[in-house]
Amino acid sequence: MSDNHLDSNVPGNPAYHFTVVPPGTEPAAGWARRGELLAGAGTGTQCIHAGSQPDPAYGSVMPPVYLTSTFAFSDIGSNGGFDYTRSGNPTRERLETAIATLEGGSGATCTGSGMSAVLVALNLLEHGSHVLCTVDCYGGTFRTLEHARNVYGLEVTYLDLADLDAVRAALRPNTRMIWVETPSNPLLRLSDLGALAAIARGTSALLVVDNTFLSPVLQRPFDFGADLVVHSTTKYLNGHSDVVGGAVVAGPGREALAQRIAAMNNLLGTSQSPHDCYLVLRGLKTLRVRMRAHEANALAVARALADHPAVASVNYPGLPTHPQHALAKAQQKGFGAMLSFELKDASPAAVNRVLLALRWFTLAESLGGVESLVAHPATMTHASMTPAARANAGIGDGLIRLSVGIEDPEDLVEDLRRALD
Ligand SMILES: *Cc1c(COP(=O)(O)O)cnc(C)c1O
Repeated sequence: MSDNHLDSNVPGNPAYHFTVVPPGTEPAAGWARRGELLAGAGTGTQCIHAGSQPDPAYGSVMPPVYLTSTFAFSDIGSNGGFDYTRSGNPTRERLETAIATLEGGSGATCTGSGMSAVLVALNLLEHGSHVLCTVDCYGGTFRTLEHARNVYGLEVTYLDLADLDAVRAALRPNTRMIWVETPSNPLLRLSDLGALAAIARGTSALLVVDNTFLSPVLQRPFDFGADLVVHSTTKYLNGHSDVVGGAVVAGPGREALAQRIAAMNNLLGTSQSPHDCYLVLRGLKTLRVRMRAHEANALAVARALADHPAVASVNYPGLPTHPQHALAKAQQKGFGAMLSFELKDASPAAVNRVLLALRWFTLAESLGGVESLVAHPATMTHASMTPAARANAGIGDGLIRLSVGIEDPEDLVEDLRRALD
């Protein structure tokens, strides 16, 4: 490889798109301009091309997987921009570029799980900081915050972030983060990102949005003033239920913050393996078409559930009956494919009967894959919360959560109707 290639490979540099001139390729080649065009391209184009420029060494159209822990130095103090894979790897950098581009951020860092992404973000805080967190947050996030409370002296207040007066009242001089999941899990409650950003702006708190449920195709928190976006890429970004991964993204114009999250990922040793990064990059290519298909199916399923006499209520922001349907339309570019519903008969026997009668919905944790999944939050995803915390968050024993896949909608609707009948 030429020095030309090596010099341009600056780790963590989101501008690493097409500064590289592959051997035998004219710099004027049309595709060499993709890098500069990507920020203004459509989401579908970004999904396919961000971070996926042809390989500078051989021109392979698909990205090479750099399965190496270490990189050779060409001289003392001189290498190709990478020295050790925990700190940086060309395959991971491609994924980081892709996710940062899709979110419209200044840089991303990819981690070995969504929880390690949560950890990277929380480790930006100093001892004794205060965090405001959505009351029905992801169970693992709740557990990590409680751990940080005990071990790192973090102060945490859980509250309904839709109640803006309560948010203002809960602020303390040491509040350094507002942690939002919108829509939330498993009740699909929304938080107003623009309003929360306005509150955060008047303080020294970062607004952190876990955007796992919608992906950047359906919601771009930086457009509303968020400082950081967190993802479990295990879910929609990868989309095929064969990788565990995460990402933290710094907002536009926040290069210093982008460097801090990358440095924290390196410090904690939480960075994602090159092979897993390659798989997520592969999954990302179909993100936009998958999200559209997921959403169309979820709407069909939500309507069918709302019409069924065994169902007490359906939580789906795409239904006009959802209390925040208008906010969903204003803030999101779609309603997503996560929903939950409450059975009229919440007894364990009735819940079990429905769960085990389903044929196309697999009883399993996780979400966001092409296949439909069903979960019982009280005993599965939210089992790590105390019964009191669950009750406080409104997670009842008769609540069932669906991750609606991209099978044929008629099959999914028929499956649910039959199980409920
Ligand atoms: C799954 C999930 C996480 C944790 O991600 P892992 O990849 O399982 O570690 C965090 N937040 C949300 C909203 C999730 O759904």
